Amino acid sequence: MKRLYFDWNASAPVRTEVSELVYEIHKSCGNPSSVHSEGRRARSIIEESRSRIRSLLKAEDYKIIFTSGATESNNLAILGFERNCINKGLAPLYISSLAEHSSIIEPLRALERRGVQVHWHSDHFIKKNELEGKSYNSGNPVFVSSMIANNETGHLFDALESKEIKTAHYHCDAVQVLGKVNFSVANVCYDTVTLSSHKIGGPVGAGALLVRDESSLSAIQFGGAQEYSLRAGTENAAAIAGFARAIEIVTTELELNYQKLLRLNTLLRSLILARVPDTKILTPAGRFLPNTLSILFPGLDGRSLVIALDLQGVAASVGSACASGSIEPSHVLLALGFTPEEARSVVRLSFGHLTTDGDIADLVTRLDAVVKRLRV
Ligand code: PMP
Repeated sequence: MKRLYFDWNASAPVRTEVSELVYEIHKSCGNPSSVHSEGRRARSIIEESRSRIRSLLKAEDYKIIFTSGATESNNLAILGFERNCINKGLAPLYISSLAEHSSIIEPLRALERRGVQVHWHSDHFIKKNELEGKSYNSGNPVFVSSMIANNETGHLFDALESKEIKTAHYHCDAVQVLGKVNFSVANVCYDTVTLSSHKIGGPVGAGALLVRDESSLSAIQFGGAQEYSLRAGTENAAAIAGFARAIEIVTTELELNYQKLLRLNTLLRSLILARVPDTKILTPAGRFLPNTLSILFPGLDGRSLVIALDLQGVAASVGSACASGSIEPSHVLLALGFTPEEARSVVRLSFGHLTTDGDIADLVTRLDAVVKRLRV
């Protein structure tokens, strides 16, 4: 039986071209901070990758700080901003949403425990005009964090082009938009933007924080002076090169891939609604991540469904991979107003460029059989 991988939002398969490149670089590189030829080769690979990413994403206004992934990038943005404020004798104030990824919510919770003020919005995304008229102008530096695409529900929003709080620092976790919808940082208002390599067919272990003004952040880990002195530690030259190559591929194939994913999404929605009774699709029909479908199966436990699907050769997910080990219902769905029981009944299917029409049809057949069995 063919395995059907429907968990691309957790991690996408590494592109063959990328893994070959990573393997070659691993064979011949030294430490990028060393002065010998092997070290200089690693350094030049990193710097070439940096400038390629800047031009692919039209990020000429940003410095690119390489990290180990999006979790680290989000932590650096949030905690680095706070450290920077403290160094200046200022008390920051944060605004974000409870529907963000846990790598945004948890550093903010950690700050709250230390007495930092955080204003939580219950909606996904901090929309235009949502902050207007609210009393955030206490004179304290403000940090606004708002994602564009939700990894669990597939909701998609327009990137913010202007700041409602003119002096605030705007951060965006853009992990799930990269390579799936048209996204560049040319016309956005964000001061920092988080990206991750393994969500787009790059290797695990690379990510980036795009930073407009590196003096707005202070380091949160200490050691060498790598990455503009904001991220100490030896850079992973091979993974960074693989990340840059993956961005190049997804950017080049974007339009074709988008149309394909959209078509597969429509097919999946219609087959599920036609063949799997009593389901509710949570991913909106208007503007959504084309590779994502979040489905509520009333009365069923999502975790049991995922396990049963796995036994039938299907990899699916109950939400964010980072929360999959937990027995708590998805914080995202709770934030969006679902009851704990409803939130526990949701399964996410996410796919990518390798998925075929046949895979979608097979998936629905296996899903239908599993749901029928669990419902008796
Ligand atoms: N933000 C979002 C929106 C994500 O979907 C994920 C991965 N689930 C992360 C951050 C964390 O990414 P990483 O695995 O690169 O740390």
